[in-house]
Amino acid sequence: MTTATARHVAVVGGGISGLAAAHALSTAGVRVTVLEGADRVGGKLAVSDVAGLPVDEGAESLLARRPEGLELVRAVGLGDELRDAATTTAAIWSKGVFRPVPAGSVMGVPGDLRTLAASRLLTTAELARIPIDTWLPRTRLGEDVSVGWYVARRMGRAVVDRLVDPLLGGVYAGRADELSLAATLPQLATLARERRSLLSAVREARDRAAQEQQRGPVFVSLRGGLGRLPDAVAAASGATIRCGAVVRRMDRTAGGWSLTVGSAHDARRVEVDGVVLAVPPAPAARLLRHPVPVAAAELSAVQTASMAVLALAFANGTPGLPESGSGYLVPPADGRLVKAATYTTNKWGWYAAEHPDVAVIRMSVGRIDDEADLQRDDDELVEAALADLADALGVHTPPLDARVSRWGGGLPQYAVGHLGRVERIRAAVAREPGLAVCGATYDGIGIPACIASARAAVSSLLGQWGHD
Ligand SMILES: Cc1cc2nc3c(=O)[nH]c(=O)nc-3n(C[C@H](O)[C@H](O)[C@H](O)COP(=O)(O)OP(=O)(O)OC[C@H]3O[C@@H](n4cnc5c(N)ncnc54)[C@H](O)[C@@H]3O)c2cc1C
Repeated sequence: MTTATARHVAVVGGGISGLAAAHALSTAGVRVTVLEGADRVGGKLAVSDVAGLPVDEGAESLLARRPEGLELVRAVGLGDELRDAATTTAAIWSKGVFRPVPAGSVMGVPGDLRTLAASRLLTTAELARIPIDTWLPRTRLGEDVSVGWYVARRMGRAVVDRLVDPLLGGVYAGRADELSLAATLPQLATLARERRSLLSAVREARDRAAQEQQRGPVFVSLRGGLGRLPDAVAAASGATIRCGAVVRRMDRTAGGWSLTVGSAHDARRVEVDGVVLAVPPAPAARLLRHPVPVAAAELSAVQTASMAVLALAFANGTPGLPESGSGYLVPPADGRLVKAATYTTNKWGWYAAEHPDVAVIRMSVGRIDDEADLQRDDDELVEAALADLADALGVHTPPLDARVSRWGGGLPQYAVGHLGRVERIRAAVAREPGLAVCGATYDGIGIPACIASARAAVSSLLGQWGHD
């Protein structure tokens, strides 16, 4: 039997998932080639300059409560560059007024009625509806339900519209009414099955989170931007990295896989022993259509949301610029263009030390079923976002610089039943020797979850080859 170390694996997709897989495979002594369709690695992690400051185009913060992200950062030599978020105090810009995100809530689901009342996000009647949760009969959750349906049933519709949609919906650029409770709030889903009351489940989840918080910062990033991570992982992996290498087709061979790479008139074959498929759901579905049609059908049912991230740089001291706080979220029900704004240079303290003259605000535009604004060209989008910013903060001065980063189909939607779908995909893929999948489609869209899925994919391949 060929040992794992004599094998050659192709990782298709050089986003953080694929790169983490390449790193883990190389560490195990496997020869790896990363085939990345774009002209750079990193996928949703990228950093570029705005008014001379490095500003992330996509993901900007790493959840530190899970170990996988921090472990990878340290393994590739960037441990000294980690920086804690200087502030994580966000507001909700609701009906034209800034309100604090109530302490004690979990992804917007409230656990502390006092802080919620003090935030004045809800009317008195909406607030009074919430404790009814404690005496309502148990809500049957079956295999899965949508977060919006469940929270509205327990606590009233306003909690979904004013709190859960801006917070949870913001992470996925999705709608709470479509997102799976089991997949997007797994801890709360488990507690909700154990306890009748959602309020009590949130309080338990909040207490656990508070204990974890005592162990250190919740969010970290890298000095110079989280977008530095992919190149460092690629370099540390020692894998062969081929950019501009779009994989068009995958076929089984007697001993492994044959990949068709490049355009139809200049297609090349890459023959390998194994494949880690680390691409978003649509290309994964296309590539698996012939070899694993069951997985392909499931993958093609995963919707994705498109969005854009605008980075606007202003001269520091510009009237209206916030001096504190990490940013604000906007309930989609308010119909504003901008769904969330991050005060980047407030949130990450290293900017103030290194670039004291410039303030950067990042704004996200677009959600699932609300993507019409993304049809506007960059200049129009910036102008419309500035108008929103003027309404929100009273900033009327033109920016020094602006950048628009578009993420078409950037965020997979974990719809009701997502966990079952992932199980079916993995079961079908596991029947194919030398094949594994990973990425944001499966076990969580956050970077640590993506890295965990990469590790699981690598373990499954190595396991098939009798490697521990
Ligand atoms: C705007 C935005 C902000 C985010 N912010 C955060 C954040 O702050 N913190 C956080 O934890 N998460 C955040 N996320 C989520 C997180 O960044 C992503 O879920 C994660 O980076 C996805 O990594 P991935 O490797 O699975 O996929 P991707 O990054 O999508 O990488 C997949 C790669 O596959 C390549 N590819 C596709 N098809 C082919 C093909 N046929 N052949 C070869 N290559 C192909 C693509 O070019 C791409 O490089 C954010 C996401 C977005 C869009």
